[in-house]
Amino acid sequence: MKMFEPAQRLKLIPPYLFKDIDEKKEQVRARGVDIIDLGVGDPDLPTPWFIVEKMQQAVADPRTHRYPLYSGLSTFKEAVARWYRRRFDVELDPDTEVLTLIGCKEGIAHLPLGVNDPEDINLMTTPAYPVYHMGTLFAGANCFMLPLTAENNFLPDFHEIPPLEARDAKLFFFNYPNNPTGATATLEDFQKIMDFCREYRITPVHDACYTEMAFDGFSPPSFLQLPGAKEMGIEFHSLSKTYSMTGWRLGMAVGNREVLAALGKIKSNIDSGAFDAIQLAGIAALDSDQSCVREYNAIYQERRDLLVTGLQKLGYQVTPPKATFYVWMPTPPGFTSMSFAAHLLEHAGIVGVPGVGFGDPGEGYLRLALTVVKERLEEALARLAKVG
Ligand SMILES: *Cc1c(COP(=O)(O)O)cnc(C)c1O
Repeated sequence: MKMFEPAQRLKLIPPYLFKDIDEKKEQVRARGVDIIDLGVGDPDLPTPWFIVEKMQQAVADPRTHRYPLYSGLSTFKEAVARWYRRRFDVELDPDTEVLTLIGCKEGIAHLPLGVNDPEDINLMTTPAYPVYHMGTLFAGANCFMLPLTAENNFLPDFHEIPPLEARDAKLFFFNYPNNPTGATATLEDFQKIMDFCREYRITPVHDACYTEMAFDGFSPPSFLQLPGAKEMGIEFHSLSKTYSMTGWRLGMAVGNREVLAALGKIKSNIDSGAFDAIQLAGIAALDSDQSCVREYNAIYQERRDLLVTGLQKLGYQVTPPKATFYVWMPTPPGFTSMSFAAHLLEHAGIVGVPGVGFGDPGEGYLRLALTVVKERLEEALARLAKVG
């Protein structure tokens, strides 16, 4: 009898690191401990109501019930272009330089299928959102990792790349404001990345999904603000974090038309695009006065200040992030990121993500997400104080 065997491809998926932590979480929960979950990067704040209302209207209109265009509603792509012009002063042709995505994870995962041949090399920074690596592996290609460390301000150091790898590399994935480190990049930092990519004819791929989640008046740049960037690469963006719309699945890829056409060709053969009603709600979000974004950022900033100041008072060396809702907390001496996560869970009922889960250079850190109300953060700090 022939036995069922999944594809070899699935063996490429790295072993799941958090099995022990997950088991511990269940044990702690079973003991009746009220767990404070700072693990998942998913906003607790609801989607702003005017967006929900727009969705309610849109979904009641039978014209939205049919197959969408795989590349997206032209009106949504026009709204993306308007938003990029207002926000970044970047001009985009909505027809050829904007592609609607079913969340930007979808686009990131599919891009290598349209760009890479087997044995290709992509560059990526690490620790990182895991999808750049997995998308590359599923396309039969491999990643060369550029470590982000406190010493290099969590920015790529191109001296780390052997010239051979650089010459052969096809894509370079980077992400600022950064998940998981909370690090940010300036346009000058982006210029260095672009200069490197130009020298080696690498296509820059910037994951910009946290540009709107920023604090203290800081306004993170788009890679496409650099002259000539659009001729070279693309940027991924998402409504997920900006408008608390993670469950809706709506994002976009913008920039170089040939790269977008390659991604579009894959998409047209795999999915049939984002639900039109969701795109109509997305237009309302992008065209709004963005006061909802400011309001939510004020809430995250208050939480950040509370948690960072509290941790500092307890003797932890944490830097307040200028953007993203992640606090990248160094683990105290004597702990690995795994053992510290287990320790906090066991003794304080607090869930954080061990940094090593995002890549080896994440060892020595715990990622805490600011996705609970202030009172819960205060409770977390009180428990930490007791644990010592
Ligand atoms: C959340 C996140 C995404 C995924 O966004 P979706 O649009 O919800 O798919 C992509 N990149 C990074 C770095 C993220 O943190």
